[in-house]
Amino acid sequence: MVFVNSDNSLVVRKNQRILLVRRPDGLPRPDDFELEETDRVVPTIWFDPRRSSSSSSRKDRQGERSNSNTTADLVLETLYVSIDPAMRGWMSSAKSYLPPVTLGSCMRASTVSRVIAASSDALDADFPIGSIVRSEIVGVQSDYVLNDCTLSKARKLLTRLDHNTGIVRTTSTNSNRSSNSNSNSNSAASPHKLSYASYLGVLGTTGLTAYFGLLRVGNPQATDTVLVSGAAGATGSIVAQIAKHVIGCQTVIGTAGSDAKCHWLESNGIVDVAINYKTVPSLSKAIARAAGKHGVNLVFDNVGSAFLEASLSNLASGATIVLCGAISQYNASQSSTATGPRNYMNLLVKRATMTGFVVFDYQNEYSGAISDMVRWIGEGKIKCYGEDMRYAGIDQFYPALLSLFKGTNIGKVVLKAKTDETETENENKNENENENGNGNGNGNGNGNNNRYEHPPSAPTRSKL
Ligand code: NAP
Repeated sequence: MVFVNSDNSLVVRKNQRILLVRRPDGLPRPDDFELEETDRVVPTIWFDPRRSSSSSSRKDRQGERSNSNTTADLVLETLYVSIDPAMRGWMSSAKSYLPPVTLGSCMRASTVSRVIAASSDALDADFPIGSIVRSEIVGVQSDYVLNDCTLSKARKLLTRLDHNTGIVRTTSTNSNRSSNSNSNSNSAASPHKLSYASYLGVLGTTGLTAYFGLLRVGNPQATDTVLVSGAAGATGSIVAQIAKHVIGCQTVIGTAGSDAKCHWLESNGIVDVAINYKTVPSLSKAIARAAGKHGVNLVFDNVGSAFLEASLSNLASGATIVLCGAISQYNASQSSTATGPRNYMNLLVKRATMTGFVVFDYQNEYSGAISDMVRWIGEGKIKCYGEDMRYAGIDQFYPALLSLFKGTNIGKVVLKAKTDETETENENKNENENENGNGNGNGNGNGNNNRYEHPPSAPTRSKL
């Protein structure tokens, strides 16, 4: 929400953010979090892309740009928040590949945001008003101010998406603007629904996890029988499609937690055989039936526990198990013990290998992987990758998170930061502003903004 004071010199934006206030024991509960609302005051001039012509001479600006230490404050408006099982780990005090979220601070998340205001044009070369960025610094909140940032620091913290090669637009106006080195593969993919939110899904950490986990750690062969757990989830569904349609693996088997998910997996050709692990009398026997007498060559495990045990009972000689995650264990309470596979000796008997990996280790190779994914989407090899965006509004963080652990999601869960704007409106707004060169970000006081009559109020906190 935006308020503008009567002489148009200041804008007050209502920021909402989710604070972690208690470390969950077991499944997260609503009172592990609080919703904080704060007024944030920003000078109106920051929202105007022409601010520099009214605030400094052209000569001054050229001088500014040549100084690499020149800083600007950027205001980022969140469009999309990635909802990930890893968030559960960050809520606990246990050591992981990232430090725990500090109690009382904003919940960590990957986000896609739009630059809506800037204190000067020092960062305009890469991050002008209206540009769309992906970052890990914003967290679950509606606005973020990146203070005193140099261009080189901004390049480290923000990835500009509307400059990137992967984006595919869905309207004719849009496709004209996707001029980049990958424009051929982009136009091939244009009937599909890729959007900026896809940079949190198939073109984001999810897709990259599937790509590197399967291709680098698993090294699948066309003759392989591949078994994927969480196959209707964000990562699992991309793994299965790469195995089936890019590598052409002989048989791809997926497990999922409902008949509807199994139907979705089989009817879309994502897997050859889907197994509902919740209703099947014996998961191990069901895998054995689907895999045939040679067993499973490659297991991609997202869930751990009972699935891991059942897969260990069905290994082919020389099999590989890719340990991507163990979501069935993430909500183990302090009083319960995480369970491991009792039959791990099958690794020895079958001369098999079980390897864990963390996707961030492949950061230097992300751009090549994204290009591959865009090409495979364009070729129709990956066709089911839409984001599950049923939740909208920062205050909907909790139900969005819980959908992962209750298994109500299909594909990648992305929280839309706002309830009142569609993605197309967001993207078109960005384009119009860039094309006309006279956009006003989201809050310069023209148009429909509320007039601001009162001083900013103190932060308020409420239960979810
Ligand atoms: P996701 O699979 O889209 O969502 C979670 C799914 O897990 C749910 O839909 C549910 O599907 C299943 N699930 C939830 N609780 C379960 C339980 N107790 N037992 C069995 N299945 C359960 O999430 P994602 O983002 O793609 O993540 C998948 C896995 O990849 C997670 O373990 C995550 O931690 C891991 N990951 C690893 C890396 C890495 O670098 N190694 C990076 C990203 C993610 P059903 O309805 O089928 O039960």
